[in-house]
Amino acid sequence: MTDPVTHLIHHPYTPPPGFAAPQPGVFKASTVIFANVAAMRARDWKTKAGYTYGLHGTPTTFVLEERIAALEGGHHCILVPSGLAAITHVNMALLRAGDEVLIPDNAYGPGKALAEGELAAWGISHQVYDAMDPADLAARIGPQTRLVWLEAPGSVSMEFPPLVQLAQVCRERGVTSALDNTWGAGLAFNGFDLGGPGAGADIVVQALTKYPSGGGDVLMGSIVSRDDALHLKLKLCHMRVGWGVGVNDVEAVLRSLPSMALRYRAHDQAARALAGWLGGRPEVAQLLHPAFAGSPGHAHWQALCGGDGQADGARGSAAGLFSVVFQERHTPAQVDAFCDRLRLFKLGYSWGGPISLVVPYEMAAMRRNWPHKGTLVRFSVGLEAVQDLRADLEQALQALA
Ligand SMILES: *Cc1c(COP(=O)(O)O)cnc(C)c1O
Repeated sequence: MTDPVTHLIHHPYTPPPGFAAPQPGVFKASTVIFANVAAMRARDWKTKAGYTYGLHGTPTTFVLEERIAALEGGHHCILVPSGLAAITHVNMALLRAGDEVLIPDNAYGPGKALAEGELAAWGISHQVYDAMDPADLAARIGPQTRLVWLEAPGSVSMEFPPLVQLAQVCRERGVTSALDNTWGAGLAFNGFDLGGPGAGADIVVQALTKYPSGGGDVLMGSIVSRDDALHLKLKLCHMRVGWGVGVNDVEAVLRSLPSMALRYRAHDQAARALAGWLGGRPEVAQLLHPAFAGSPGHAHWQALCGGDGQADGARGSAAGLFSVVFQERHTPAQVDAFCDRLRLFKLGYSWGGPISLVVPYEMAAMRRNWPHKGTLVRFSVGLEAVQDLRADLEQALQALA
């Protein structure tokens, strides 16, 4: 089988003929013109056999959909205007009043906020489960549970859950599972085949905003599935709701995809180099990076992402993210000063672009049983030279002296 990375460049899908160039064409349209009334009446927006209206796809969006589906190891892809919209869309398409959705306690925060806000207002209940404990998930699945969200690693706290077992619980209980695969990006592991072929999530979403875009200049999300009926359900909702993505943005992601695996590896290597160094500093109480042995869930990461366990982070895939918990003796104000003092690491949300970013978090307000007392800082490592980033961290640590 062709490696998905190669599929990003040599993809078998071809849009209708008429223009042959190595790069996909950029087609922008709301209106699509039909040859005659019969053709108009015979329109079919459910498949990629033809075009009906810009909102339902153009040759350009079809190409990106096919490439993201191949990247994730799925069959169908739907594009939406952001990663959060992908999460929203799956919830909207699959949940009705009276249903329940289960969300990991360490999930991407806005996904939880959606459950507490709009989903609750629509009569859809939710529970949060302990992502590190498949028995806790199993115990929470009830007759109303229609959807379980999975995510790896935990947002900000970076603990790597037993994804294989969590997905297995969902399968055994006949509940649809949806994985937020933004961190893995389709490169670190295959979300559909976690415990073997087909023994994974039913739906895999990703914030294309992050690594697939890679530029920090696009907001987009993808929803990938394998099952035809499940895809049709998602697609019907998509048609009724009316999410559109800008073709300039689609073009930007198509341009970035061929370099994505290289960028991912570079972010990964730089993050491990910096995490290993910073994690060993006396100011730091706990390093949170799944490729390091002392990090929660390291063994799950190693089993799924191919870490060989020889040395901390020697092999396997990880993204460019890590967090540290500073020693309790460093006050939150001092840690803020450390962040403010950084020059190359900028204060800002999101990640996956060329610029390194840093965010301090108040974890006690975000998690039920957060075990650490010191302040957590999350680093997203960009593509700058590692020695410059390390020097930046080193000078900023003086704020803690
Ligand atoms: C960034 C992110 C999202 C949301 O993506 P946006 O495009 O910013 O809405 C969802 N899930 C995870 C894990 C993310 O990191």
